[in-house]
Amino acid sequence: MSRCLVWLKRDLRLMDHAPLQAASLLGPSAALWILEPQWLESPEFHPRQLAFAQACVTELRAALAPRGLPLLVRVGPAVQVLQELHAAHGFDQLLSHEETGPGWTYARDLAVAAWCRQRSVRWREWPQHGVVRRLKSRSGWAGRWAQRMDAPVGPAPLAFAPWAGADAGELPTAIHRSGAADAANAPVAEVPLPGERAGLRVLDDFLGGRGRGYRRSLSSPLTAETGCSRISAHLAFGALSLRVVHQRTEAAIAAAQDGGDRALASGLRGFAGRLRWHCHFMQKLESEPAIEFRHFARACDGLRPGDDAPGSPAWGVTQESRLRAWQDGLTGYPMVDACMRSLNATGWLNFRMRAMLVSFAAYHLWLHWRPTGLHLARQFTDFEAGIHWSQMQMQSGTTGINTLRIYSPSKQALDQDPQGDFIRRWVPELAQVPLAWLHRPWTMDATLQRESLCVIDTHYPAPIVDEQAAARLAKDAMFGLRKQRAARAEADRIQDRHGSRKSGLPQVGQRRGGSKPRPDTQLDLFGMADVPPSQDEPR
Ligand SMILES: Cc1cc2nc3c(=O)[nH]c(=O)nc-3n(C[C@H](O)[C@H](O)[C@H](O)COP(=O)(O)OP(=O)(O)OC[C@H]3O[C@@H](n4cnc5c(N)ncnc54)[C@H](O)[C@@H]3O)c2cc1C
Repeated sequence: MSRCLVWLKRDLRLMDHAPLQAASLLGPSAALWILEPQWLESPEFHPRQLAFAQACVTELRAALAPRGLPLLVRVGPAVQVLQELHAAHGFDQLLSHEETGPGWTYARDLAVAAWCRQRSVRWREWPQHGVVRRLKSRSGWAGRWAQRMDAPVGPAPLAFAPWAGADAGELPTAIHRSGAADAANAPVAEVPLPGERAGLRVLDDFLGGRGRGYRRSLSSPLTAETGCSRISAHLAFGALSLRVVHQRTEAAIAAAQDGGDRALASGLRGFAGRLRWHCHFMQKLESEPAIEFRHFARACDGLRPGDDAPGSPAWGVTQESRLRAWQDGLTGYPMVDACMRSLNATGWLNFRMRAMLVSFAAYHLWLHWRPTGLHLARQFTDFEAGIHWSQMQMQSGTTGINTLRIYSPSKQALDQDPQGDFIRRWVPELAQVPLAWLHRPWTMDATLQRESLCVIDTHYPAPIVDEQAAARLAKDAMFGLRKQRAARAEADRIQDRHGSRKSGLPQVGQRRGGSKPRPDTQLDLFGMADVPPSQDEPR
């Protein structure tokens, strides 16, 4: 009989959890969640992510206790924690899900694997979703994804044989990072709330009706707040299993079709496509971990160097102050600033506005995606390295294979917030500015500025760059690069390694017959298929 330790990482749930199921069958077991100093010190970390994780751990602990499984909590480097538990309790199997995370998790897993070999502990890992480890070729990937997602959902284990005498350990109430102290158990202000039960409630609410407006509410930050599913943080911390979400979604699509609710079926089909993107993007990091730090297209190396030479797109303002203005929501472009302030306050933003923020940083401000990506990663409660770094590079034009998309912040403001409600909510300096000037407040004359209590450069900044001139220079630089022979040759390699394939498989919501299957290449529309093609091009 084995003694097992289930190492919980980003899989903080009871349902559809292969390592927990295995432990319930194998022998005396305990579960373990480690608060690792490397996470706290990582540049992507934010205390709100920890608060979300700890709330999930608390719920899971309470769910496992009556089933007989203690959930131990420890603070320290993974190898050290495992070593201490091994010395005290002598387990011979370590059970976990595979993880596709930032570089520090990869390095830590290598160290854990080496430790397991030394101690003759068998480490068994299960795939957590559709990401394939040691993938040889992208051909057939979509079929494998579908196979995994359609496999039976694992039931919540009923009972365990526990280890005797293991100290459960407390969740820390404060954390210390490089001298700074933060509360570790701050109440989670985010909506929706953490945990598996809350995640399932949010999902069922969406599938049961809220998803009806999904396609038309995706793009505006006003409507997306309730129109999107809002399950991203639950997926990122594994409080929901992607398989469960996929299968419930397919069932809801079928029910909506059978019931003649075409609007709901259509909304949920759009949503089901995003679930494929989740793994499609994560696969890129799994297959090429270096994309967290360096360009997909090496031809882009040096494209956005340190401070700018005269004539580069964001001339005149240092890189550091451009980055700071962007992070703080003080660029002078109301929609950019409203989105950033909203994100900084809440930990969530819809896809299109995330893309707009990155496009503005990468093209208008000519900033490298790594520091801007780190700021966003810290703000996102749902930070998921594989999606995040792929998207950062795609929206910055450095993948070498995607259409360049430069969003005009003024046009996005008019399209997505025509009445200025979102801007007024998040940029109170502009509250009194009449609608006709709200999206371009710097065009008010001096009298109107005074009357509106918004004197430019006193109450609210002047635009940090000239939108049109900066976009033109950025476009010239990007297209100049793309024309180079070496860049074109490299694009073929990247497409081969990371691009999706036509599979001819039944697609989203079309298992039950009906309309024509969509080709798998839809996966590679890289997040822009949330709107019909005519509106697809940001300007
Ligand atoms: C620059 C940038 C960075 C991003 N970083 C992250 C991140 O760190 N973590 C993260 O979960 N998403 C990220 N996204 C993708 C997307 O914006 C979020 O998944 C989405 O806004 C989450 O809200 P939701 O759960 O309501 O999404 P819904 O629209 O309801 O979608 C459901 C799920 O599908 C997946 N999904 C949706 N859109 C995408 C997409 N474009 N690419 C991949 N998967 C998608 C997510 O898992 C999401 O939870 C990023 C997008 C951009 C442009």
